[in-house]
Formats: sequence, C-alpha cells, structure tokens
Amino acid sequence: MEPIRSWAALAPHAELQPHQYAPSALGAEEVEIKVAYCGLCHSDLSMLNNDWDLSHYPLIPGHEVVGHIVAMGPQVKGLQLGQRVGIGWNAGSCMHCHACMTGEHNLCGSIQPTIVNHHGGFAERVRAHWAWAVPLPDSLDMAAAGPLLCAGATVFTPLLTFDVKPTDSVGIVGIGGLGHLGLQFARAWGCEVTAFTSNPAKHDEARSFGAHHVVNSCHSDEIIKAANTLDLLLITVNTSLDWSALLQTLKPNGRMAIVGAILDPMQISAIDLIFGQKRVAGSLNGSPAATADMLRFAARHQIYPQVEHFPMSRVNDAMRHLADGNARYRVVLDADFA
Ligand SMILES: [Zn+2]
Ligand SMILES: [Zn+2]
Repeated sequence: MEPIRSWAALAPHAELQPHQYAPSALGAEEVEIKVAYCGLCHSDLSMLNNDWDLSHYPLIPGHEVVGHIVAMGPQVKGLQLGQRVGIGWNAGSCMHCHACMTGEHNLCGSIQPTIVNHHGGFAERVRAHWAWAVPLPDSLDMAAAGPLLCAGATVFTPLLTFDVKPTDSVGIVGIGGLGHLGLQFARAWGCEVTAFTSNPAKHDEARSFGAHHVVNSCHSDEIIKAANTLDLLLITVNTSLDWSALLQTLKPNGRMAIVGAILDPMQISAIDLIFGQKRVAGSLNGSPAATADMLRFAARHQIYPQVEHFPMSRVNDAMRHLADGNARYRVVLDADFA
C-alpha cells in the first residue's frame, strides 16, 4: 500500500504538521477515496484539543470529505471506481445490530467515527466502509458540498426524525455553520421559518438564508413574543440559553431538538414540558440513507453552505480562523498535495 500524506496533530492544541502513514491492507468492505475537498467542522477543533477525551494522536482531523473512489475491497456493494462520494462524521458501523438493521446506522453501538481511532480527511486519501461512502448527485457542486456531509446531515435529519410537515413552523437557534444550513433546509421543506440569533449583524443574512422572521435570542422578552408559534425548535448552539423562554415558543406537542453539544447541564422545568405536552430530544448526525436523501434534496433545491476556501497546506490558518469565530459560515480545505 502506498503511504498516505496527511496533516496531523501530535498532541492536544498542537499545530497540524505534514504526516505520512502506511495504511494497512484495504478491508474487504472498505473503499479508499482520493480527497478533493474536506470541510472544517467545529468538531475537528474539539477533537484536536481533546475536548471530549476521545482523541488519539497523531490525530488526522477531517470528516466532511468529498472525493473519488480510487480503490475498493472485494465485498464493496453498489459503488464504482472513480465515483464521486462523500464521508461525514462516521466511516463505519457494525452492519448487524438492531440499529444498523433498521437503517439507523448512526445509532450503532459500535459506530466508527471518521476521526476517532481512524484517520480522517485532512489527507490525500481516506477510507470508509462502503455503506458510509455516500454517492454525490451529479448536479451537486463538489467544491461546496463537503460541509453537507456533517453539518448538513446534522440539521436535515431532525426534519425526518421528528416528522416535520411543510405546514409546520420551524425555529432555528444559532445562525452559524449548522444554523445557516438549517434555515435553507427548513425553508425548502416548505415550513415557516424563524431564526434566533444573538448577533444583530446576522439578521439580514438569516433572512437571505430563508428565515421569514428573526428573533434576538439574547432577550427573553423578544423570545417570548414568539410564544406558541413553533412545531419544532432546532438548537444548534453549544452554549446555555433561556430554555424556559425557548420552550414557550413551542405549540402544544412541539419538540425541541438539540444538535449543539452544550457541555453545561440544561436547566429545564418539568412544568414547561407538562403544559403543552412538549418534548426535548437529541439528534445525532444522520444515517447513510438520510445523508443520501439530504444530498439529493440539497442538489434539487441547490442548497449549499456558504463557504470560504483555504488550500489544505494552510490548514493551521483555517483552524485559527474557525477558532477565532470568524468562519462565514463554513471553511473548506482544497486538497493540494503535490
Ligand atoms: Zn462535524
Ligand atoms: Zn450496528
């Protein structure tokens, strides 16, 4: 096997540096993908810094990969050499547990994330189980598609899981890498869409991404003005907010779906849930089928992240740009291994 060139961190908080590794023999059900572009997700930063105590070094981040298949094991199904595919947060699952057998592979207890004990996409090539290498629709622009694989799947899946109807009203809290895609998906889904943002400078942009209404999420009084208007409220931020006020925005039977990794415990009153029979739930990325549906939906409606490109050789500049909160709204690295 040819060695694989990559960008790796050797310790928490370290700069990424050129790193070459010798891959093991390609697994019977694995594909190898030549990376064309890889999105930079906030989770890459969390993994680099070992925020979740999951990281192993050398750590090769990158889990919003798009590229072409360059090698396939003998048991790969449904894919072809040269095909355009994407890989997101996960690169494999057991394929035989109840979750996998019922199509909820993203809930598999033996899931293999792309950058946990696995080499990610800040590299010239990356590997995945064939089921997790999701074909890209022909009309999808590869240069901007990367962030759909993680961010896109994360905000699209709740529309499926929580059975959102086009007649529903959806709120999106946090207009960043996740939220700006959530607004576009909810709008194209047919819903009435409300954006909640703490940044007044983002109000017009939120409208440009599809929001019918924009609410300042810093002020509980403003949030409460939207009381009893929403069927689904999607939380994409990772900081604590006025959960009581936000729960009041839900109609009876409304659901609050959380996709932001809020590290502080959430203070939620039972009373706020009981009256109106409201539900609070998490949502974890997406299954391969949901991801494929999301990509087709995005291609049909021409939904893309707003991206800034960096050559992969400037990955450390890109990481700083993201860490400083300056990404608008998603960074994509263009693979430039000579
Ligand atoms: Zn991600
Ligand atoms: Zn499984």
